[in-house]
Amino acid sequence: MTQDRNNTVSASVMELMRCPHCRGDLAREGRDLICRGCARRYELHDGIPLLAQSGSSEQWGSPSDGVTSVAYQGSFQKSGIGERYRWRYQRRWFKRCTTRREIGRIERLLASQPRCGRLLDIPCGGGRVSGPFAAATDLLLQADLSLDQILMARRIMGSQGRVVWFTASAFMIPLKDGAVDGVICNRLMHHLPPGVEQERAIHELLRVSARFVIVSYYDHDSFKSLGRRIRGRHRGHTLRRRDLRALAERGGAFVEVDVPLWCGGSRLRYALLRKSIGPPTAPDP
Ligand SMILES: [Zn+2]
Repeated sequence: MTQDRNNTVSASVMELMRCPHCRGDLAREGRDLICRGCARRYELHDGIPLLAQSGSSEQWGSPSDGVTSVAYQGSFQKSGIGERYRWRYQRRWFKRCTTRREIGRIERLLASQPRCGRLLDIPCGGGRVSGPFAAATDLLLQADLSLDQILMARRIMGSQGRVVWFTASAFMIPLKDGAVDGVICNRLMHHLPPGVEQERAIHELLRVSARFVIVSYYDHDSFKSLGRRIRGRHRGHTLRRRDLRALAERGGAFVEVDVPLWCGGSRLRYALLRKSIGPPTAPDP
């Protein structure tokens, strides 16, 4: 493990981390981390840097377009939510099948790329699908908005290889550009409203990755999405496949693979966005 219970984070991991607000270098000062750029101070909880910044687009200096994921972020930071979520998935047979299928999809996409030196799992939740990730990389970084979820992920993943944990928002990832070879972002996009927040998340995932991003999303044009819209029972935000391609391009990447969870077609799809050469362009304001 690269973190221990004496509130230390290894120097090699510190070198990758940046202030979520200004992307300044972070340094240890006493029991905290302090930003050398804006002097913000971040606590550690039992060795876990608390770098999550919840909120909407005003946090990163873009005007809000009205619909935000702030309520979702709040609900996921409540104490015990991770335990309930995980328990629900373990209990139901269908959900267990879904979990195995999700892991299988992600593993196949990971296997299509050269092995990673560093892999980021965000949001990792309580580690429901993270089991095989540690074996796919030399160093696994797990991040989530919720400290509760991170503590659960640490309990599950703690003895498997080199793993680092910190709290973080996918909108303001506290890592330097290209800090990791790949990113896995499972089951986040459908909680984010289309527009500013979806674009910001994709842009951030691509910014911190040197090679690829694996991302799940609800396909707007799937039969299931269409049926739910007709019945007025739509839950979760969708994305069109062509819009994902456009988002990837604006982040300096292209969609190399885009497959449904189940072969017959699903609302949930998994895409692998591969970085093109050159720096990402700024997102539209
Ligand atoms: Zn700063």
